[in-house]
Amino acid sequence: MSVEVNKAKKEDNTLTATLNMIKQAIELSDLSNDVYEHLKTPMRFVEVAIPVEMDDGAIKVFTGYRSQHNNVFGPYKGGIRYHPAVTTDSIKALSMWMTLKCSLVGVPFGGAKGAIACDPLTMSMKEKEKMTRSYVRVLGSILGPETDIPAPDVATDAQVMAWIADEYSNIMRVPSFGVVTGKPLAVGGCVGRTEATGRGVFFITREAAQATGMPLDQARIAIQGFGNVGGNAALLFAESGSPVVAVSDVSGGIYNPKGLNIYDIVNHVEKTGFVKGFSGGEDITNDELLAIDCDVLIPAALENQIKSNNAGNVKAKIVIEGANGPTTPEADHILKDNDILVVPDILANSGGVTVSYFEWVQNNYGFRWDLATVNRRLEEKMTEAFKLVYSFYCEKCIGSDMRTGAYRYSIQRLAEAMQYRGWLRSSTKK
Ligand code: NAD
Repeated sequence: MSVEVNKAKKEDNTLTATLNMIKQAIELSDLSNDVYEHLKTPMRFVEVAIPVEMDDGAIKVFTGYRSQHNNVFGPYKGGIRYHPAVTTDSIKALSMWMTLKCSLVGVPFGGAKGAIACDPLTMSMKEKEKMTRSYVRVLGSILGPETDIPAPDVATDAQVMAWIADEYSNIMRVPSFGVVTGKPLAVGGCVGRTEATGRGVFFITREAAQATGMPLDQARIAIQGFGNVGGNAALLFAESGSPVVAVSDVSGGIYNPKGLNIYDIVNHVEKTGFVKGFSGGEDITNDELLAIDCDVLIPAALENQIKSNNAGNVKAKIVIEGANGPTTPEADHILKDNDILVVPDILANSGGVTVSYFEWVQNNYGFRWDLATVNRRLEEKMTEAFKLVYSFYCEKCIGSDMRTGAYRYSIQRLAEAMQYRGWLRSSTKK
């Protein structure tokens, strides 16, 4: 293997990057190394075989994962992803980010993540349903409303959550819909949950623009990923009057310096499945999108999109991480040297878990909030979290970046809880 390929592979390892960030944040905060000992590995990690009878009658055995990282604050919480490229390291890192995110935004959950290595684009609905139900039969004993509560992530949605709720309820022999969040409204979902991560991204962008003196209504926005997070964020920017100049998905991107008609793109995607082929803009590649002339860049697709080989091309003044882990540590340095503010994933995309928490509370109480209440409470949480982290970063992290500030803030809260629970003799260095 060439040196270049090795370097790229090393840069892509999100687990190594996360562990380095956690370690650095602990050292900078004068916390005890025992905090790192607790956070460096998931409390439980399982890899399981998921047998499925496919539509042609063949049996296919998929690999499934659940990483339960840390539950010092409450039940484990984290999405389930269907994607061919999932690895044990990426799932562990994703579960660590959930722990950090829940701590940062102040919801009483621990961090988890699950996945099935599969290609959902090539599977029928029936095959996806069987695979989902099989996952719950194999892993149901470690899930539960008081134990571990999955939610949607890449290529999983409200329908997948409804299958999980149904299969789990069958196993438990009681309706137990609180085992997942992000469900359809008809089976205990929460209004506004589908749009929550994108809405949170919108609120965080608004706060970041305000903090840096950028007028949001004139800010040109570019969004990579037009799924749940990117698509919903794009709609909110369009509604608020900010020009969205570029969007993309796995098929490629489109660019219009005067602003794209997001409603027409949503209709086009509903008809064709992809943004490619939309006539109201010029075709661009995903790499070109990241380098487009804009004020705010929102990566909302997958990990490792902004790397050492393309970070220098980013022209935006603010990067809002809608996706988990879209920026590598090497790219972080380049963006910082170029005075670009990166609002980290554990803050920027925490709107989803926040409204998941609202859904879980409503399920526990058998009560429903209206949309205005959900959106108002989400806005309060996002605004408060941004202000806390941004001022901590400005006051206590001089010379550093906002990701370091967010990690330090989050880990200090985790350390305090671990000490109270008796997991540490002392959270600080002796
Ligand atoms: P999704 O499946 O709804 O959408 C993903 C989008 O990314 C799709 O438009 C897809 O075509 C596009 N995409 C996939 N590969 C791509 C590539 N190589 N280049 C460009 N685009 C590509 O997923 P989602 O739920 O929107 O999740 C997106 C990101 O946000 C993930 O990192 C996820 O972990 C994170 N996230 C999601 C939620 C949530 O509530 N859904 C919450 C927090 C974080």
